[in-house]
Amino acid sequence: MTIMSTLSSLIHHNPLNSKTPTSLFCSSIRKNHTFSIKFPFLHNTHLPSQVGIQKVARSPGLTLENMKWPSPDDEIPFWESRITTSDVTIEAPLSADNDSNLTHIVHVTAEMAPIAKVGGLGDVVTGLARACLSRGHTVDIMLPFYECLPKQQMTELNLICTFDSYHDGNWVPTNAYRAVTSGIPVILIEPTNRFFKGPRIYGGSYDELEAYLFFCRACLEYMQVTGTQPDIIHVHEWQTSALSLLYWDMYHRLSLKKPRIVLTIHNMEHYGECRKEQFGKSGLDSDVYATADKAVDDRTIGHNPERLSLLKGGIVYSNAVVTVSPSYLKETLSSGWLSSILIKYRDKYNGVLNGIDTALWNPATDPFLPSKFDVQSLDGKTICKEYVQRGLGLPTKDVGASTHVKDKKPLVVCITRLVAQKGLHLIRHAIKRVEELGGQMVVLGRASNGQVQKEFEGLATLHNQGPSIRILLIYSEELSHMLYAAADMVLVPSIYEPCGLAQMIGMRYGAVPIVRRTGGLADTVFDMDDQSNHEISNGFVFEGIDEKSLSSAMDRALAFYSDKPDEWQKLVLKIMQIDNSWNNAAAKYVSIYNSVRAH
Ligand code: ADP
Repeated sequence: MTIMSTLSSLIHHNPLNSKTPTSLFCSSIRKNHTFSIKFPFLHNTHLPSQVGIQKVARSPGLTLENMKWPSPDDEIPFWESRITTSDVTIEAPLSADNDSNLTHIVHVTAEMAPIAKVGGLGDVVTGLARACLSRGHTVDIMLPFYECLPKQQMTELNLICTFDSYHDGNWVPTNAYRAVTSGIPVILIEPTNRFFKGPRIYGGSYDELEAYLFFCRACLEYMQVTGTQPDIIHVHEWQTSALSLLYWDMYHRLSLKKPRIVLTIHNMEHYGECRKEQFGKSGLDSDVYATADKAVDDRTIGHNPERLSLLKGGIVYSNAVVTVSPSYLKETLSSGWLSSILIKYRDKYNGVLNGIDTALWNPATDPFLPSKFDVQSLDGKTICKEYVQRGLGLPTKDVGASTHVKDKKPLVVCITRLVAQKGLHLIRHAIKRVEELGGQMVVLGRASNGQVQKEFEGLATLHNQGPSIRILLIYSEELSHMLYAAADMVLVPSIYEPCGLAQMIGMRYGAVPIVRRTGGLADTVFDMDDQSNHEISNGFVFEGIDEKSLSSAMDRALAFYSDKPDEWQKLVLKIMQIDNSWNNAAAKYVSIYNSVRAH
C-alpha cells in the first residue's frame, strides 16, 4: 500500500489507537528508534528574547546528502515511520524559580496531552500542570483510566488502592493507579463497570454523562479514602463540573475540608445537559439543584421535563471560574444563555489566555521533525517543508536550488477538529482559493459527524491526486508537528474560538497565522496592515464569516509571501520569538489559586 493509493483509506486511520496491520507493522520498526528526550526547562526558556534560540539539536550526521526523503509510494506513511509519540518519554521539567507560596493542585479532567488528547483541553491541562510543577508547586492529574490509554507512554504504573464509589444505588469497586507521564504524576481512576471502555476517549458505548458524574464522585471518594486534601481541585469543562456540587454539598460535609475548587471553561458550547434522573445517580438529590439559582438549564424552564446543566452548576459552586482568553470572557458575558449566571458571578470570573508548552512545542528540539531549526537558522524549516511536500507528493524544488521566495509555493496548513465551530465552509473555501492563487494546502482534521466526514472524504477524493491540495482525515500528533514546521501559513478561520492553540503553535514554528478575529484569536493575532498596531502585528486577520472576508486575508497573505520575500522572512523570525509560553498564564492561575485557597 502506498500513500497515494491509500490516501482515501487513511482517512479512517488513527495511528495512535489503530490496530490495523499498518500500525502493527510499524511498531516493530519503531523499537529501533526508541529514545528519551529530557527537555531542558531552562530558567530563561520563557524570556521573550530567548524563545526559540536554544541550541539546535540536529540529528547527528544528518546532511541533505544522506537525508532519506519520503515519497507517496512509501509503504509506511512518513509520519508513522519516524519516531512516534509512544517512543518519546518526556521527563519532569527542571525547576524554574519557585513561587513563594506553594500550592498542591489536583486537576480533575477528561483529557491530558498526549496520552488522552482530543483537542486543546488536553494540551492546556498538561501545559499548565508542567508550568506549575516547574514553579515548585505539587501537581497531580486525575484522569479516567480509559481503556484506550497508551500504557507504553506511562512509567511507574502501579495500583495504589481499590475502593468503592457510588453510582445509581450501587457501590462500584474502583481501582486507582498512579503513573507518571510527560513528567507529571497522574492518578488513573478505573471503575470495574463498563465506563471508559472502548477504542476512543469520547463516544464509547456507555452513557458518557453518567460516566463523568461517576468519575467526579470517584475522585472525591479517592481523596477521602486516602486522606488526600489538596489546596485546589482544578476541574475542567462540563465533564468534571459536577465535582464542585459533590464537594460542597457532600464531601466537604464529610471529611474533606481544605480544598477549594477552580473551574476552567475551555468551550462554552458544551453545557453538560443532564436529565434529573441521570444526575440523581450521583447520589445528590436532583430536585435541590433544579432551580434557576443553582443548576437548572434556563432554556428548559417550564418545559416538561426541565433539565440540569452541569456546567452551570460548576459556575455557581466553584470558588473561581476561568475562561481561556480575555476576549472570550467578554463574548460570553454578552451572549449565550449562560451570560446571566456569568454576570451574576462576574467577581469570580476571570479570562486567562492559554499558553503553549514551549518545551513540547519547540522546533529546536522537536523529535518529530526531520530537521530542527531556530531563529538563528531556518534551513531546517526549509528541509521540513520539502520533506512534507515530498512525502505527500506535492511539487517542490530541490533545497538550495533557489533562495528566492517567489520561486517557491506557499504552503498553508489547517490542523483542526472538523466541527462547525471551526468554520467548515471557510476551510472548504480556503482550499479553493489557495489552489486558485497557486499555493499548496494541507488539511489535517478529523470529523466526529458522519455528514461532515463524508463531505471532506469527497473533497479528499477530488483533490488528493492533484498537485496542490492534500486532505488527511486522521488524528496524528506526529504529522501535526511536521506540518507546523513545514508550513508558511497556518489557517484558523473559526466562527468562534475560546482561545485556539494552532495559531500559537504555528507561530512558534514560523508559520504566519491567518485567522478570524474572534475570542483568543483576536487576543493573539494582529493584522499586518493595521498601522496602529505595527509593533505587535504578526499575521493576517479577517472579520466576517463569509468567503469574501476570508479571501481578503488569504490574498493579502499570499501576495505578501511572494512579493516581499525579505519582509516575509523578518515576519517569520518575529513570530517565532513571540512569548506565548505558559509562564505568564501560569502566574495568573497561581494568583487565582492563592486568592481562593483556605488559609
Ligand atoms: P480545540 O480545543 O477546539 O480542538 P485548539 O486550537 O485549542 O482547538 O487545540 C487544538 C489542538 O489539537 C492543537 O494542538 C492541534 O494541533 C491539535 N489537533 C487538532 N486536530 C488534530 C489532528 N487531526 N491531528 C493532530 N492534532 C490535531
